[in-house]
Amino acid sequence: MPFAETSPRVALYPGSFDILTNGHLDIIQRGRKLFDRLVVAVAANSAKREPTFSLEERVQVLHEVVAPWPNVQPVQLEGLTVEAARAHGARFILRGLRAVSDFEFELQLAIMNHQLAPDVESIFLAPAPEWIFLSSSTVREVWRLGGDVSQFVPPPVLAALHRKRPLV
Ligand code: ADP
Repeated sequence: MPFAETSPRVALYPGSFDILTNGHLDIIQRGRKLFDRLVVAVAANSAKREPTFSLEERVQVLHEVVAPWPNVQPVQLEGLTVEAARAHGARFILRGLRAVSDFEFELQLAIMNHQLAPDVESIFLAPAPEWIFLSSSTVREVWRLGGDVSQFVPPPVLAALHRKRPLV
C-alpha cells in the first residue's frame, strides 16, 4: 500500500559502512534533522572484498556512534533495499553523494529502486567539503598500512580498529 502523505517521515540510509567514516556520520547527522526517524541499514558486504568488520561488529559500533540520537536506528539490511524500506515504514531512501564518481552509480540505483517501488523516494545529500573525497576503502588502506586514521572516523570506530589491531 502506498505511503500516506501524513505518515511520519522515515528514511532508510543503506550502505555497508565497512569502515564507518566521518563522511557517513555527516550524512547521518544531516538526515536525522530532516526526518522524523532515520533507519541506518547495514548491508553484508557485496562481493567486494574481505570485510574489515563483521556485520555484527558494524551494527554494534554504529549503535555506539548514534547513541546520543534517539531517532537514529541501526539495523541489519536484509534483501532488497526497497523492501527493507517498506518493512521499516520508510518512504525515503537516503544516500550520500560525493564527487562525480558516485553520480552514475547512484543514479542507476535510484532509477532501479524507483522502478521497483515508485512510492519510495531516493534523496541525496552532499557531505561537508572536508569529507567529499573520503571513502571507507581509502581509510581501510591507510589503516592496513599502519597510518593514523583518527581524523577520518568517529571515536568508537577508532576504538574498534584499535581492538582489532592494538597500537604498539
Ligand atoms: P555501499 O556499500 O553502498 O558502497 P558505503 O558504505 O560505501 O556503501 O556508503 C553508503 C552511502 O554513504 C553511499 O550513499 C555513499 O555514497 C555514502 N558515502 C560514503 N562515504 C561518504 C562521504 N565521505 N560523504 C558522503 N557520503 C558518503
